[in-house]
Amino acid sequence: MAAVKRYLFTPGPTPVPPEVLAAMGAPVVHHRSPDFRPVYERCLARLREVCRTESDVLLFTASGTGAFETAVVNLVSPGEPHLVVSAGSFGERWKSMTTAYGADVDTLEYAWGETPDPEDVRAKLAEREAKAVWVVQSETSTGVVADVQAIAEVAKEAGALVVVDAVSSLGAVPCEMDAWGLDVVVSGSQKALMTPPGLGLAAVSDAAFERRGSTPRFYFDWEKTRKAQRSLDAPFTPPVSLVAALDVALGLLLEEGLDAAFERHVRLGRAARAGAKAMGFELFSPDEDRSAVVTAVRSPESAEIIKALRDRFGITLAGGQGDLKGKIFRIGHIGWFDIFDITTALAAVEIVSAELGLDVERGVAVTAALEAYEHTPVA
Ligand SMILES: *Cc1c(COP(=O)(O)O)cnc(C)c1O
Repeated sequence: MAAVKRYLFTPGPTPVPPEVLAAMGAPVVHHRSPDFRPVYERCLARLREVCRTESDVLLFTASGTGAFETAVVNLVSPGEPHLVVSAGSFGERWKSMTTAYGADVDTLEYAWGETPDPEDVRAKLAEREAKAVWVVQSETSTGVVADVQAIAEVAKEAGALVVVDAVSSLGAVPCEMDAWGLDVVVSGSQKALMTPPGLGLAAVSDAAFERRGSTPRFYFDWEKTRKAQRSLDAPFTPPVSLVAALDVALGLLLEEGLDAAFERHVRLGRAARAGAKAMGFELFSPDEDRSAVVTAVRSPESAEIIKALRDRFGITLAGGQGDLKGKIFRIGHIGWFDIFDITTALAAVEIVSAELGLDVERGVAVTAALEAYEHTPVA
């Protein structure tokens, strides 16, 4: 069988630029040597820039879920009141995780696909105080991006810490840790940060650090990692190749400029939505600029479409999670994506949809996507 070119159009893992892959291939250096320190120092500084914070950004060898678990084990004490905002798969995960560690969890629960409303958070916190509000910025399972700034504002007013799952949003949409008063921002290497999976990060404010809880912890202890990182050391062996790769990826992102990257993501979202609609599909994710991470498209044939894309063209799209399995397909557009990735995905969806007998008008999606990408100003 001939080798098929692979196209990864999912919201994580995402495509990795060649420079970043090349960094992964460099000889392994010792993590307590002068070979590693400059890379480590630069990577940590770049992470602070990307999170727009002066606080420490702590690195862990873990996926995004592991980085999130560091927030749970460092902040939660059993029996303490916490509020989880849940509107999809990841909100449910954080509800389960905080509950598993014994927090007394109140949940502000939305149907999958709804957008959390800061006023609902205010009402919940008026009913019962919480040590922390746990919120997902980009709910990757639905394509909804929440207004974390507004949610943080009401949480702060109620004296709660704000923990943000920015795993799929950091580097794609604005996440202003210091300006918005976010206490913890959690992310992972394999989404908009254009690096292979394996590195989790948690940016931790002093306020969050000072309110650490009593849950037992060891590897994931913030204090150990913060203390070591402050002298460019690490308590345990870091994945040096991934750190080197992330450093290069963050360099690319900052070279483009964060604001330029955010604008690119807005345009990519517009293009994906315009193309899907032009083919006659209905959107599941909101048809709004904020929804710049992943475009979720309704289709009862989504499983067949995804399989055909993979078999025919080597293209990977994401399906639905939970109850949305078989009902939607998702086109990711975070990280190392440009307009031609979107048009490639759309053109292929058009071909396989027609072959599956769907009533799609041929040749319209790419045109609509290019038009939406190029000709609409971003505020
Ligand atoms: C990908 C993702 C995660 C974490 O996933 P891992 O597989 O553990 O890296 C968490 N939250 C959101 C919103 C995500 O998109």
